[in-house]
Amino acid sequence: MNISLPSNVEKIISVLEEAGHEAYAVGGCVRDSLLGRTPNDWDITTSAEPLEVKKLFKRTFDTGIQHGTVSVLFGKEIYEVTTYRIDGKYEDSRHPKEVSFTKSLSEDLRRRDFTINAMAYNPRTGIVDNFGGMEDLRCKTVRAVGNPEERFGEDALRILRAVRFAAQLGYSVDGETEKAIRDLAKNLKNISAERIRTELEKLITSDNPGYIRKAYELGITGVVLPEFDRMMETPQNNPHHAYTVGEHTIRVMEGIGNTKILRLTALLHDIEKPGTRTTDEKGIDHFYGHPAKGAKTAAEILRRLRYDRDTEKLVSRLVEFHDWEIHAKVSDIRRWVNRIGEDCFPLMFEINKADILAQSDFHREEKLKHLDSLAAAYDTMIKNGDCVSLKTLAVTGSDLIKEGFPAGPKIGEELNRLLSMVLDDPSKNNREFLLSQIHR
Ligand code: ATP
Ligand code: MG
Repeated sequence: MNISLPSNVEKIISVLEEAGHEAYAVGGCVRDSLLGRTPNDWDITTSAEPLEVKKLFKRTFDTGIQHGTVSVLFGKEIYEVTTYRIDGKYEDSRHPKEVSFTKSLSEDLRRRDFTINAMAYNPRTGIVDNFGGMEDLRCKTVRAVGNPEERFGEDALRILRAVRFAAQLGYSVDGETEKAIRDLAKNLKNISAERIRTELEKLITSDNPGYIRKAYELGITGVVLPEFDRMMETPQNNPHHAYTVGEHTIRVMEGIGNTKILRLTALLHDIEKPGTRTTDEKGIDHFYGHPAKGAKTAAEILRRLRYDRDTEKLVSRLVEFHDWEIHAKVSDIRRWVNRIGEDCFPLMFEINKADILAQSDFHREEKLKHLDSLAAAYDTMIKNGDCVSLKTLAVTGSDLIKEGFPAGPKIGEELNRLLSMVLDDPSKNNREFLLSQIHR
């Protein structure tokens, strides 16, 4: 079995081999190549120690040299070259506390998480597959290398990684591995938020975000995202709905583009339905105020997962307004764009469509037709270049001052009053007209 290596990777391997060391492409890149997928990055494993690696290449930097990793710059690309190693106990962070180097490739492969991630390749030796990785690719199985309890005991993040890889590849998790996950999922509480975030994001942005259901069944979300479990356990006895909040959420994730922002919004849009549920005398469930409350909870969850502020703000704004279309009229489109924000507004249509399609079919056609008419109004608005924010209002604060308006906070109020006229009638975004309308 041959893999076609990028020429830089081939060069790095040859340079190491010519200096008398062993070197292989390893891990995810071998797995993805065998599957005909494009690898994210190419990692190289070698018998050479870090200082020897540094001597052989002109441009290197120390990424994690104490863990054996040297980054080699080759052309414009960066490749991580890591010395064969045996891991000590993992701590909360990204790396094990202590590692020792070894001269044995097979020892290095043994410390890796899953059989499909524990294969190495170079053009001279071909594939090195000591743990049945090829067979597991064939039968589409995620299986721990060696004893799963031991492996998850060393590093609990592997528990979440198992479901992440299953979701990315559409695989099932081997029975023994799955049993160990159930038994040990609670240990995920010791793993840092950053490491959890990386894996959770890869899971929900994969081709199979519905595998989060598996994470729920195995007790994983109960530790890393307990709010999701509450959604899975909250019914929606309401003609507009056909599923629990959690099952609805999964369907929205499945029905939306695979970007981080869209999938996080889908995951969190109904996060406060469990917290706002009331049941009326007819037995119908209502969730009054869940979008506003949900926006706060979504922001808290994203902060807890150490997301950056931009992601937190954008997703929580989308959650806050996710049911805007229920209240919106075509004639109000500019007001809604102004309120929700020009930057994230276009995302709304995709979110709303997926949301509607994940509800019951009650009034579905009308809901979709209404959404289409709002989208058409939005397109027209964009085509006409209508002003929907102070950014493009025909007058500015300094214009008002020049007209003798007193400086101070009243200026903002006055600009917004003028903007409000323009939102009703875009043809009023005319400097002369607006200046004639100033209330001094
Ligand atoms: P991706 O395509 O998402 O980058 P990957 O398989 O390359 O997938 P990485 O997280 O980049 O995954 O890790 C690279 C390799 O390092 C893995 O394929 C695996 O062999 C090993 N590895 C990474 N994390 C762990 C871990 N926590 N425990 C054991 N081995 C690990
Ligand atoms: Mg990788």
